[in-house]
Amino acid sequence: MSLTLYLNRKVWLRHLAETESRFPGFIPVIKGNGYGFGNEFLANAAQRAGKRSIAVGTVEEARHLGEEGSFDHLLILTPVLNELEPDDLRPERIYTVGSRQHLDYLVSAFARLADSKPNIWSGQERRPELRIAVKLQSAMKRYGFAREEADFLRQLESAGEEAGVAVHVEGYAIHFPKEGMSAASKEAQLKAWLERIPTDTPTFFVSHLSSAQYLRLREEHPQVNWVMRLGTDLWLKDKSFVDVRATVLDIQPVFRGERFGYKQRKAKRDGHLVYVAGGSANGVGLEAPPSVQSMKDALKLTAFWVLNLLNRNLSPYTFQGKRTWFAEPPHMQTSVLFFPSAAALPGVGEELPVQLRMTTAHFDRYIEEGEEEEDLLPSSSEKSDQTLGATS
Ligand SMILES: *Cc1c(COP(=O)(O)O)cnc(C)c1O
Repeated sequence: MSLTLYLNRKVWLRHLAETESRFPGFIPVIKGNGYGFGNEFLANAAQRAGKRSIAVGTVEEARHLGEEGSFDHLLILTPVLNELEPDDLRPERIYTVGSRQHLDYLVSAFARLADSKPNIWSGQERRPELRIAVKLQSAMKRYGFAREEADFLRQLESAGEEAGVAVHVEGYAIHFPKEGMSAASKEAQLKAWLERIPTDTPTFFVSHLSSAQYLRLREEHPQVNWVMRLGTDLWLKDKSFVDVRATVLDIQPVFRGERFGYKQRKAKRDGHLVYVAGGSANGVGLEAPPSVQSMKDALKLTAFWVLNLLNRNLSPYTFQGKRTWFAEPPHMQTSVLFFPSAAALPGVGEELPVQLRMTTAHFDRYIEEGEEEEDLLPSSSEKSDQTLGATS
């Protein structure tokens, strides 16, 4: 039984390669469920694409990625406020710091580690080095230094002196909202920060800018090393290279008034229960359509809630091009669909297409289709990544 992610490898790799021209010097973001692919799979793809730097969500993700040693820079996007382990002092790590508290915590955690395990720092005469990305506040209002704290940014590198930790600012980072902010106001915020940053040649990590805007910023501010963080747009784009399908496991006739399933609901009509692979553990949920953008979507959403009240739930599984109905809420690894008696039925063993949100999906199987063209991705030795080149 399987919920399977089919990846058209050739098209996917071509898209990864093309992304470099739309966002030169970008850094791949690898986090969470690995956008449906898994973090290790993506780390491997990034490496094969010649990327020398990647970003991960948390320090725990950094620890889990066995590939870590093969990157020059590993940027951790979420501030760390947990006890560190000796391995966390690895030189490729860059920690995001969005407040004085974040910095103080890291400095003292580094100092504690260095004191308790004096041999973990390779060059033993040297002080432990803490490399940071300084997070600046954007309209997101997520963690980040406020503009009024700009003066403090000048003192960041001396913050570790007393504790014997050498703090290096590797770059500045700003995270823009995905929606609801114009390109012009993003640019205004960037420029306001550029005037306040204590160096003329900073590395600047940005996100959620269009390719046109990113390319223009690079042209207008060539002294800045612009690094675009890309997740969804890189790994999934329009999802044209992924195909998700679920195996039909069993089909049972059910009659009006008969009880069935976990909830022992009564069937309202004659029909069939169609058991398919994929359940709540795979991210199959009784979900509303993900966003409402138009009147048409709003009407769909209203229809969805009305049907919900009637205990009828559209499922993300489709058969012959049409959405199917859940017979009851998804089980952990299986879902039960209801097909009315007049409807055509799939065969057991057949696969039905499923629409899942890739950032919450977990698959039983991954199958790559389409052979690889050797020259799609330059190998890492042929290509040097400019990421972070300016400051390190
Ligand atoms: C997740 C994340 C990204 C990537 O976001 P996508 O929408 O998946 O491209 C970029 N920057 C930061 C700080 C993030 O946490």
